[in-house]
Amino acid sequence: MRVTLLGTGSPLPDPNRAGPATLVEAGGLQLLFDCGRGVLMRLAAAGLPSPALLTAQFLTHLHSDHVSDFNDVVTTRWVTSPAPNPLTVVGPPGTGRFVERTLEMLTDDVGYRIAHHEDLQWEPGVDVTEVLDGPVLLDVLAAAGVTVTAAPTDHRPVAPTVGYRIDHDGAAVVIAGDTVPCEGLDRLVAGADVYVQTVIRDDIVRSVPMQRFQDICDYHSSVADAARTAAAGGVDTLVLTHMVPAPAPEAVGDWIEIAREHFDFTVLAPDDLGVIEV
Ligand SMILES: [Zn+2]
Ligand SMILES: [Zn+2]
Repeated sequence: MRVTLLGTGSPLPDPNRAGPATLVEAGGLQLLFDCGRGVLMRLAAAGLPSPALLTAQFLTHLHSDHVSDFNDVVTTRWVTSPAPNPLTVVGPPGTGRFVERTLEMLTDDVGYRIAHHEDLQWEPGVDVTEVLDGPVLLDVLAAAGVTVTAAPTDHRPVAPTVGYRIDHDGAAVVIAGDTVPCEGLDRLVAGADVYVQTVIRDDIVRSVPMQRFQDICDYHSSVADAARTAAAGGVDTLVLTHMVPAPAPEAVGDWIEIAREHFDFTVLAPDDLGVIEV
């Protein structure tokens, strides 16, 4: 398996970090987890020039920073596919409603393009599977010998939210999304090779005298939280992403050091387009 951190950013605009999105390639499948700001630019840089090539789009939750470019995934897949090519979307309950609203937003554009292109006479298709706990049942996964398992996470008041574990050929990767430590997360992480966790530095965030910023501490894993979850689960590699506040290059080492106080194995904090081979 190969994991590409397409976007390591957060809601705060950053010149070097796109919004949250991770590509997992397993068994010849291209699985995209979340689709934050700039996802298609990063996907092109990672070697996928069109989202028409994606096997499925997975959503961890419906917070705007994780889904802000969903409309771009849908539209660009549609206009670059030579024949109807519905997008498979997997997400927590509420995903179907979110997809319907997105398609509603795109109504004018869909009409313009169908009117303009004689060979584009179908609307964008999206097949939604809502999941909360258990295996994601898709024929395309089963045919490739890839298992994706969802479990509920805790990002309240954002609910429901899910994390995912991808198993293929004896290797396991967890894309946790935004969550504090919880039982569902522990189940996904147990025995995984790679655990990708969105994190914040609560020590820095709490020092900023701005309530709206400090609020984020109560529903995200701190670096220490992520490291303790990784240690309890016996994982090989902890990957920090969605770091708030985004560290300058010379400060990334501090984040890794904090994690290593609680976790003895490999800790990575890649830039956008960082690749982990499993
Ligand atoms: Zn969130
Ligand atoms: Zn987020």
